[in-house]
Parts: sequence; C-alpha cells; structure tokens
Amino acid sequence: MKEDKYDIVIIGGGPAGLTAGLYVQRAQMKAILIEKGLPGGQVLLTEAIENYPGFPEGITGRKLMEKMKKQACKIGLEIVRDEVVEIKTQEGGKEGRVFHLASADGREYTALSLIISTGATWRHLGVPGEDKFQGKGVSYCATCDGPLFKNKKVVVVGGGDKAAEEAIYLTRFASEVTLIHRRDRLRAAKILQTAFRRSKKIKLCLGSVVTSIEGGKTVEKVKVKNVKDGGEKDIECQGIFIFIGITPNSSLIKDKVGLDEQGYIITDNDMQASAEGIFACGDVRKKTLQQIVVAAGEGAQAASSAQKYVEKLKGVSY
Ligand code: NAP
Repeated sequence: MKEDKYDIVIIGGGPAGLTAGLYVQRAQMKAILIEKGLPGGQVLLTEAIENYPGFPEGITGRKLMEKMKKQACKIGLEIVRDEVVEIKTQEGGKEGRVFHLASADGREYTALSLIISTGATWRHLGVPGEDKFQGKGVSYCATCDGPLFKNKKVVVVGGGDKAAEEAIYLTRFASEVTLIHRRDRLRAAKILQTAFRRSKKIKLCLGSVVTSIEGGKTVEKVKVKNVKDGGEKDIECQGIFIFIGITPNSSLIKDKVGLDEQGYIITDNDMQASAEGIFACGDVRKKTLQQIVVAAGEGAQAASSAQKYVEKLKGVSY
C-alpha cells in the first residue's frame, strides 16, 4: 500500500478547509486536502451569497468556492478526491504523535497534524414520504432543483436563514411558495424576513409542522398540523424543500476529540481540539455563528495553529 507522509492533512474542502489549505501552503508546509465530494462543500448548494465581504453585488456559492479553490491551488495546494474512512494514532515515534489515515481508495496518509473541516449535512424531517419522494419532489437544494418547479407550487420547511433565502430564490420559478415553520416567528436574519414578506408569491404557514408527504409517482401534497390546536390541513404542492438546520459530520473523529451533545467538535480559540495535533474549523466546530466568513477565518487560525504545532515537533519553531 502506498503511504503518503504529510506535515498536515486537511480533511474536508469547504470554505474552512480551503482557507486552511491556502494558509498552510503559504507557510510552505507539506500538506494535502482530502475531499470526498467536490471542493466547496455545502456552499456549492447555495444560490446567492450576499454577506461575504468583498462582493457587494453578491456571488453564487459555486463561484465563490471556485475562487477559493483557485487561490489555494495557485500556490500549490494538493487536493485529492478521496474519503478518509479511519484514523489511527501512533504515539512515541521520532517526531512524537503520528496520525495514520486509511482512505476509501485504499491509500494511506500519514500526518503529524490534522485539520478537521468536514462540515455538516442537511438535517432530515423524518416524516413519512420524505425518503420515498426524494428526487421526486423532496429536495434539500433549491439551487439544484428549483428550476424543475417552474409555475408549480412548492413548500419550504424551516425558519432559519437558509429557509428564508431559498424561499426567496424559489419565487423565480414557482407560482407559489409556502413557508412552513414550527414556531410563530422566524429566526432568519431580519433583512431576509423583510425581503420575503415583500414577495407576493410567498405565503407563511406558522406554528405548524409537516406530518407527512404524499403523492402518487411524485409529490402532490403535504399534511400539516397546527402545533397549538392540533388542527390538520393539506397543502397542495409539487415540491417540498427542507431546510431545518445541519448536523455536524464528526463521526470520523468522534472517539478522538471532545464533542458537545450535538456532535460539534469543541476547540479552544486557536482551533485546537481536545487531542494534541488535531485542529477543527468550519461548520463541524462548535460555535454560535455559522457563516462562510467565520468558517474561512477559522480555517486561517487552524492552519496557523497546526503550522506552529508541527514546527515545534520538528524543533524549527520561530
Ligand atoms: P438554523 O439556523 O439552525 O435553522 C433551522 C430552522 O429549522 C429553525 O428555524 C428550526 O426551528 C427549524 N427546525 C429544526 N429542526 C426542525 C424539525 N425537526 N422540524 C421543523 N423545523 C425544524 O439552520 P439553517 O437555516 O439551515 O442555517 C444553518 C446555519 O447556517 C445557521 O447558523 C445560519 O445562520 C447559517 N446560514 C447563513 C446564511 C447566510 O448568512 N447567508 C445562509 C444560510 C445559512 P426553531 O427556530 O424552532 O429552532
């Protein structure tokens, strides 16, 4: 088996991982970024980004991530499409602790330090019909599937930034967008709420939960229950877009570092996790504000901390 030795292995190529890659490369560390999908992560599925500094007209998630990838690769960051499936820690070698990573492609990577930027995955509702109609009306990506619902009725579930943003985006295609949220007010940023309250196509269905998704070959309606009085009703729709938050992708590392009760990796301000040599950044890390700009900042900090850690191990710290 081929074994590749690195100072730093970055796992996950969203905004946090790509920024970490840019910084470790600038520090001329021997580094690699391993990403199982396309570099860019969840941001690739976001249509309009209006709050990343430097883009006053806004930018699509795909374009922003292409730019981040290009900038990191321009100075030589090696990005490989592969999946890390196991991490083993070896103590007491010449350079101290070493991490051995096994991949789905059968490669083995060795690292003195790890940066975990594995991001998060969209949460599922867990109601009858959700799995059955996936790709047949149930979607977690308005950018990918929105155009399929031209002049059709859709519902959006959730009350956060993502649900509000994507509801606005879907009005480009759909004839009607009903936003269903379990509380009687939304948690989305006020500027988004103002924007979508202006839209004549968006209807609100508050204090309500979806109890099932129904149809024949494709989605035809959702059943909705009012959480206060228990009253039920059907909402006719051909599509249902689910944006009810995210779950951190931390299972790979869960037995090596401390996590909070939701599975987010706990770190200090330098992005150091509870185990020496392991740093975490981006949506997989516990924090109060999940934003692309925050993930990028954390990536820079994780890179700097990992660099200092490795240089100290090698006895070459400044
Ligand atoms: P979020 O802010 O966690 O909101 C999730 C929403 O889904 C909440 O309104 C929540 O209700 C609801 N929800 C959760 N579980 C549910 C369930 N089982 N059934 C029904 N509703 C449920 O998640 P998000 O909107 O996906 O955003 C994720 C993170 O990315 C957030 O931190 C967000 O600020 C950030 N983000 C930022 C931007 C931006 O800045 N442009 C864009 C997108 C996302 P409750 O309110 O009752 O808890």
